[in-house]
Amino acid sequence: MQFDALGRRLRSSYPEIDLKRPREPISLTEALDLVGQFAGKEPTPKQYEIMKKIQTAIESGYKKILLSAPTGTGKSWIAIALSLYLRSSTILTSTILLQDQYRSEFGFFNTVRGKKRFLCEQTNRVFDCTHGYCNDCTFKPQPESYSISKKGTIAEAILGEDMPRKCPYYDQIEIGKKSSFVAYSYASYLSHLLSGEEMPQRKLLVCDEAHELDEELANQLSTNLNGFFGELLGVEMPKFSVNSDLDKIKQYVNSISEAFRKKESVIKQCAEHTLYLQSEEHIKKHAHCIKHGVKITENCTQCSKVREYIKTKEFLKCKDHVDCKFDHRYINHFVLNDLKNYTTKMKILQKGLESADQNYIITDIQSKQDEKKGHNFDEITIKPWHIHWFIDEMTSNFDLSLFMSATINLELFCKETGFRKDEIYFINEDSNIPVQNRKVVFLKTEYVEANSEAVLPDKIISQIEAILKLRSSQRGIILLTSYSQLDYILEKISPELKPRLLPLQRGQDKTEAISIHKNIANSVLISPGLESGVNLPDDDSRFQIIVKAPYYPTVDDLRMKKIYDSESDHRRYYLKSAFRLLQMAGRSIRHVGDHAMTYVLDSKAERMIYHQRNDLPKWFIEACDGISA
Ligand code: SF4
Ligand SMILES: [Zn+2]
Ligand SMILES: [Zn+2]
Ligand SMILES: [Zn+2]
Repeated sequence: MQFDALGRRLRSSYPEIDLKRPREPISLTEALDLVGQFAGKEPTPKQYEIMKKIQTAIESGYKKILLSAPTGTGKSWIAIALSLYLRSSTILTSTILLQDQYRSEFGFFNTVRGKKRFLCEQTNRVFDCTHGYCNDCTFKPQPESYSISKKGTIAEAILGEDMPRKCPYYDQIEIGKKSSFVAYSYASYLSHLLSGEEMPQRKLLVCDEAHELDEELANQLSTNLNGFFGELLGVEMPKFSVNSDLDKIKQYVNSISEAFRKKESVIKQCAEHTLYLQSEEHIKKHAHCIKHGVKITENCTQCSKVREYIKTKEFLKCKDHVDCKFDHRYINHFVLNDLKNYTTKMKILQKGLESADQNYIITDIQSKQDEKKGHNFDEITIKPWHIHWFIDEMTSNFDLSLFMSATINLELFCKETGFRKDEIYFINEDSNIPVQNRKVVFLKTEYVEANSEAVLPDKIISQIEAILKLRSSQRGIILLTSYSQLDYILEKISPELKPRLLPLQRGQDKTEAISIHKNIANSVLISPGLESGVNLPDDDSRFQIIVKAPYYPTVDDLRMKKIYDSESDHRRYYLKSAFRLLQMAGRSIRHVGDHAMTYVLDSKAERMIYHQRNDLPKWFIEACDGISA
């Protein structure tokens, strides 16, 4: 008999699913069976158990379920089964990769991506879709041209009419709107929701990686006030500081919205002009390729001139083919687009400021003074530190919301979302990975000072060296909390061990780094950017080193400081930080048959876990050497 990584029995004898007459599950167990049948594997007993608990929750009238279950449980199957049972769902994931996993494993799920990921037809596919001016765009498909079959079942399919040139962004948007089952990233879902778009009604909301919900929402709700846009609209931005009164911000935001309303029609006129200047009809007059005209083809030198002409926005300079007194380099459809996005953000901020004033704080100020004219071009970041009002709004449209994570508990979840404990049905699952395969040892090497980001004690460096020598032939991962630690370790580590380290620098592509890592026999990934969204099963990582107790920074991160200060016992902050260590420790142990050793160096980390031991999952505490519940 064969088993998959989660311990699910592979079944060759499953009856094929009849996609012509798909079965509609009448119970949750049946829905889980159906998922198994679809995937050709039998669900695990644990997955059935969880389904039963969910059944109880639904029967008792709960509308929100929190499922805390460690990696290796197969939580996505739970989400899919529940989706099939309720016939429609929206799944939110924290990464594109997870979004893709849903789609590739379960073909009846569709994905919706942000504008950045597609090329805009209107710009001749030179710029991404964030640069498109989409009103009345001829490449935008019509909602009526899509049809749906076998709605709400495992065989659901959506078909759109062919168009010679179709906007790829809106194509998936329309499919997403029609579809009963869609996976979004938090960022793209929230940006749709926040821009006031009507979202299709679905029964189930699934928030995957629910421990990231708070930060994802806070980031999406955060706004950059930009003096430059104020200037464009003729509203000078006052000088703000981190202590500025929220009323002062409110006033400014209101005046921006007001000014945009007044100026919009003028800018729109010029947007029409520049849309013409960007059109193929006009581009032709200035640049074209003998072979391909203005249809840009890769690897053609003449075409690349057309591309350059568009890319540098040279066409905006043309005075010969439009009659207008304005300088289109500064007033055009790109600017209108930016302003529209900006004022949409302003509206969201207005709403947030109205609904929960005290929740907003200025977290960052980038000073950008225009010396000559004395204009204030500062960029101000303003963020909520509680997201309660918004999450209420977000979940209220669904019959049922399922929040899933391996690293959250009920108390922290309620603190972050503002939900009451008694409105949540909490399912707390144990790990089915044997404890000896996921041991955590606290080496108590040295105390690492909270503020010593740039310098680590010598003992820490020699401990890292010792572990690397001990694990000379295996792949591993070193988890840090700052990039200055990364620089410091790379500088101090002994030269013969250094080549093994594979640093993931700020902004570097994670997927790429991980694939390099997988191809080197004893590579060790090292970075502060590895704590989430990184899966290193089996030989991809057999040991992990957590260098410092991962308390969130409160000096530079003003939102975190606010969270810390907001409770006298700092509960939310401490719980959040402790769960961050769990998150780190989960990178290399991914399924039932997996094993990896976790070394924690900072002596403070043991205290961190010890103090929270009663609130952390039992399966984790059991794995910690020397800490008992
Ligand atoms: S709708 Fe048109 S302008 Fe908007 S992104 Fe698509 S192709 Fe570009
Ligand atoms: Zn004009
Ligand atoms: Zn060409
Ligand atoms: Zn021209």
